[in-house]
Amino acid sequence: MMAGDVAHFVLVPFMAQGHIIPMVDFGRVLAEHGMQVSLITTPFNLCRLQATVDRIDRSGLLIDFVSLCFPTEEVGLPEGYENVDVIPSPKTDVKSDLFHKFFKGAAMLAEPLEAYIQQMQHKNLKIPIIMVTDFCNPWTRKVSEKLDLPRLVFYSVCCYTLIFDKIFERNSEVGDVFVVPDLEQRIEVPRPTEYIFFSTPEFEYMRLEIKNSDQSADGLLINTFYELEPMFIERYSKMTGKKIWPVGPVSLCNKEIADKAMRGARSLVGDDKILDFLDSMAPKSVVYFSLGSITRLSVIQLKEIGKGLEAARHPFIWVIRYGEKSLEDEIEKWLREDGLEERTKMRSLIIRGWAPQILILSHASTGAFFTHCGWNSSLEGISFGVPMITWPCFADQFANASFITEVAKIGVGIGVTETVFLQNYTVTPIPTPILVKVIDNGEEMRKRVLDLSEAAKTSFEIGGSSHKNISLFLQKPILRK
Ligand code: UDP
Repeated sequence: MMAGDVAHFVLVPFMAQGHIIPMVDFGRVLAEHGMQVSLITTPFNLCRLQATVDRIDRSGLLIDFVSLCFPTEEVGLPEGYENVDVIPSPKTDVKSDLFHKFFKGAAMLAEPLEAYIQQMQHKNLKIPIIMVTDFCNPWTRKVSEKLDLPRLVFYSVCCYTLIFDKIFERNSEVGDVFVVPDLEQRIEVPRPTEYIFFSTPEFEYMRLEIKNSDQSADGLLINTFYELEPMFIERYSKMTGKKIWPVGPVSLCNKEIADKAMRGARSLVGDDKILDFLDSMAPKSVVYFSLGSITRLSVIQLKEIGKGLEAARHPFIWVIRYGEKSLEDEIEKWLREDGLEERTKMRSLIIRGWAPQILILSHASTGAFFTHCGWNSSLEGISFGVPMITWPCFADQFANASFITEVAKIGVGIGVTETVFLQNYTVTPIPTPILVKVIDNGEEMRKRVLDLSEAAKTSFEIGGSSHKNISLFLQKPILRK
């Protein structure tokens, strides 16, 4: 497009917090570049996003949140099951049938999405429409083909991990230790029980659909930045034959405290309380513990974490996700009876449910991030210069963890190879010495992650590599269709 031209971007996130949040951020980035943006969502998810929507409305950015009805009833899901994080833990079978229904329901959004885009096309024939879809929504391919729209696939996953994903697909027989092939440095990682997206046979169809969707896309937009992984970005582009646009870290578009505090959902604990707590602690002294938006833990595991955090004798913020009412009751009872919260009250903050993660990570008192290594969390740790303690739980997280500990060397792993998806059945001990080491003796690591944080910020600012990539991408002739 020529300078000054406006395109209408229709963004289609997958309905999970780790996919919606970076897509909303990317929508803000496009709107800040003067583009018109529609973000497709569903009533339940829109309700959660209300604080973000209000904030964006007040800022004057042109983002329209379009709520399409999620067909829960048609696919046999209970009302409100419109996000991966509300699907209950299966009691026995980890790969619950509910997930298949959820993916089926997501694919059924094709029809209303098509109708919405057609309506927009009739409304304004002059503005070109471009679709940006999450990689987990391969069903969008047919919509873009039918309406003859350019379509780009958005990944909030780093290229290092995407390479892993491809290599593992071809080497499903590899042994206990996996050596990342063809790299300048030899990287050996223990083979966990699960390494790639949709690795089980019943989800094989998703891998195939994603492959086809990526192959026919007009390019891949990746939430990473060039300086973080130049070798892997180039290699992945060669492997796939696709144009890759590193456009991140998109979370850096949240500059004001209120924007940082209102990402994804509203926390039950007020921002003031969290900031007061952090302000009262010494610089770089607080361990922030969170395992993201999906992983759920057993009561015994949660007790183990509580014990580990207390034993490390450092201040901590512990985010506990309950998922289900029965777990909540048990944990609350334990917290009361054991007295952990009371005993550590001068140095701890326990957040039930949702936490304003980047508000916490960007605070000067946060000294270490105990993370499950979802890519958003990993990149947020990098962007705000916080060394990490890694506990990967499922899918891409094991590869992200190896990027953190073996490639970037900005974190220490707790040594797990066992998958935790919606529930863990064995108990992972929390190695207190590792926590203490990262906080007290992690100077080298901290220096490296602070350098990366500077590079991340520079890349996202005007003149930086990600900023330039976005400007170049917006000028591509393909987008002028
Ligand atoms: N997040 C948050 N508060 C929480 C939990 C998660 O703000 O209490 C955000 C986090 O900052 C990140 C996203 O939710 O942007 C989680 O994505 P990630 O890829 O790290 O992990 P997932 O939740 O998909 O496993």
